[in-house]
Formats: sequence, C-alpha cells, structure tokens
Amino acid sequence: MPQPIGLFGGTFDPIHYGHLRTAFELWQLLRLQQVRFVPAANPPHREQPLASPELRLRMVRAAVSGQPCFTVDDREMRRTGVSYSVDTLAELRAEYADRSLCLLLGMDAFLGLPHWHRWRELLGLAHIVVAHRPGWKAPTSGPLGEVMVDHGTGAIRDLHEKTAGCIYVHAVTQLEISSTELRQLIVAGQDPRYLVPDEVRQVLLETRCYSPAQ
Ligand code: ATP
Repeated sequence: MPQPIGLFGGTFDPIHYGHLRTAFELWQLLRLQQVRFVPAANPPHREQPLASPELRLRMVRAAVSGQPCFTVDDREMRRTGVSYSVDTLAELRAEYADRSLCLLLGMDAFLGLPHWHRWRELLGLAHIVVAHRPGWKAPTSGPLGEVMVDHGTGAIRDLHEKTAGCIYVHAVTQLEISSTELRQLIVAGQDPRYLVPDEVRQVLLETRCYSPAQ
C-alpha cells in the first residue's frame, strides 16, 4: 500500500515553527509520503483571522518552500462558505479512494473535536493523529474517551494498513509558539525572528499585516 498522506489544517494566521516542527516530526515518525498544509479560508468556531486568506496562503507557501515532504493544498481557499474539515476529507477521500489519510492535530484541536461539524464522520474518512505534550493522557471519559476506546491504536502499522478509522497519539517536541502570541508580539513592535521561517518574516515585514497602522 502507498505511504499515508498527512493533512495539517489550520488558520495559520501566521504559520510558525510550532506547526512546522510538529508536521516534520510526524512525517518522519509515521513514514508519511507527504504532509499537506491545508489553510482554512473561513474557519469555524473562532474569530475571523486578521490576515486575508490570500496572505495566509502566501505565508504557508513561503514556509514550506524548499521542503519536498511538505506541500500546500489550497482547496479550502477555493471553496465558498465555512471551511469544514469533514468536507475537505470527503473531497480527498473521493480523490484517493485506497490511500491512507492521516489528519494531524495538536492536542488543543483534538480536545475540541466534539464541537467540529459532523465530527463523528471524520474517522470514516481518515485516521486522526494527535501530537501531544509528554505526560498528557488521552481522554478516558466523555465522547472523546469513547472514540479512543473504539479507535485508539498504539501501532503505526495500522495507519499504513488501513485507510481510515484509527486514532494514534504521539509526543512531539513542544515549541510554545502560538499565532495569537505572534500577532501580539508584532503589534507590540517586536521582531518575530526565530519564531517563524525567514521567508515568512519577510512577508510579515513587507505587508505589515499585523502592524497597528493597518
Ligand atoms: P491561534 O493562536 O491563532 O489560535 P495556533 O498557533 O493555535 O493559532 P492554528 O492555525 O490555529 O495555530 O493551529 C493549527 C494546528 O496546529 C492545530 O492542530 C493546533 O493544535 C496546531 N498547533 C498550533 N500551535 C502549535 C504548536 N506550537 N505546536 C504544535 N502544534 C501546534
């Protein structure tokens, strides 16, 4: 069976090294064919992003340039309406009928999963891989506890041998960077150097998209 495709969705307002390092470690660990970054045009359950969809897409493209295992999937930018992951996964499943698809999520995103649109359908379309902090325990009660019992696996092999339906949890290096803090830092007139790739910093400097005067 061909190697699984990893899908890393996000608002990416802006993309930073926390996203990139997590995606890279999971690419290596899970032996993924590639990680596709899928920026959300119109994300549900949160305030509207500050940077435009086009600019966030440009920063994601800049961030992954030169890394062959990373690609950018702009389908949510081309779709109208709210960017629901279940719609994106359904489209990808139609394109890749026999391929393992792995939705990569940070711990915070996973814990919010029961609030996602048609969330119970996600595992019929893809595996879910959760990047967690060392010491964090998977939920054992509530709706997530139940799906962990039914779908949890400790075997990477399952992600290769099945096309969807497993939840795999693994620790990755924790970089305490968030897009929210980055935006605040830029508003305060500080330099985001070493928190984002230089290519992204160049776009930030050029467009001044988070600067107070904008
Ligand atoms: P914001 O602060 O605006 O909410 P964010 O930094 O959390 O943004 P998102 O674009 O909302 O970034 O997140 C996309 C995905 O990346 C989610 O699955 C989230 O859990 C994960 N993620 C965000 N920050 C990190 C980080 N520092 N390390 C690992 N994963 C992260």
